[in-house]
Amino acid sequence: MIPHLATMAVTRMVLDRHDIRARKRYGQNFLIREEAVEEILAAANIGEEDTVLEIGPGIGTMTSYLSARAKRVISVEIDKSLQPVLEDTLQGADNITIVWEDILKVDLQKLHETYADGRKMKVVANLPYYVTTPILMELLQYGDLFSSITLMVQKEVAERICADPGTKEYGAITLGVAYYAAPHIVAVVPSGAFFPRPNVDSAILHLKAHETPPVDADRECLFELIRAAFGQRRKTLANAIAHATAGKPTALSREEVVKALEKMGLSGDIRGEKLGLPEFAMLTELCYTK
Ligand code: SAM
Repeated sequence: MIPHLATMAVTRMVLDRHDIRARKRYGQNFLIREEAVEEILAAANIGEEDTVLEIGPGIGTMTSYLSARAKRVISVEIDKSLQPVLEDTLQGADNITIVWEDILKVDLQKLHETYADGRKMKVVANLPYYVTTPILMELLQYGDLFSSITLMVQKEVAERICADPGTKEYGAITLGVAYYAAPHIVAVVPSGAFFPRPNVDSAILHLKAHETPPVDADRECLFELIRAAFGQRRKTLANAIAHATAGKPTALSREEVVKALEKMGLSGDIRGEKLGLPEFAMLTELCYTK
């Protein structure tokens, strides 16, 4: 393996040697700060019994550090043109498997069965900005397979995920994540820690999966209400839900939602961003349990 990949000098050397450039369409911003990699590894608490799922190894920057600590590393990369680079940078490491695939198309259940020896995996990734939310939602849907998820994401996204009710950052993604995991921001990482340098800062986000969901509501209905509530932020919650569910099997009238809100002791013209996950769960119960 090539040491100190998470530095500007070695990253440039590798890119030059293979005559390649970072590809914007795949969100390639390589980490060039070893302290940031160390912070990710510490937050993920990687040990020698762990199987790690890495998303987007790029030129192998984090992969090489992960391989040195974990039992096994499974890295899923969409960009096949990086194959010769990874063969070079990860040469000699015998505990890394590269899966050349779009992570959104990978059967995570099967991947877990194949590689994890029946234990939960740890996810570690420096995510491409352009596809952060779909990847995160996919991981959370298969939350049972992972004991923790540690991600480098755009700082604003990390702030939205960790936001408190009533703030402008609070939204559907905050509640979606809260259903599956307890999130916290480990550190803010400046744009200068990446090459090429992006326009925005990043943050390391650690998600510890809940053993069981924190609320007891039908998941499909709960997520339907959450999505509806934040689809049109300027509407009241009752209007937003009536508008978004109209014509669907899950349709609710404004009056039905207002009645449920009043039963909860809330005003009928409250906005969605005022409600926490327990309130959304209660609203789901009241609206859909006839
Ligand atoms: N891990 C490297 C690092 O920290 O320097 C690269 C991180 S770079 C921000 C994101 C990586 O994800 C790139 O290698 C990119 O090609 C890859 N990628 C982008 N979209 C992907 C997808 N849908 N599935 C798998 N990998 C993807």
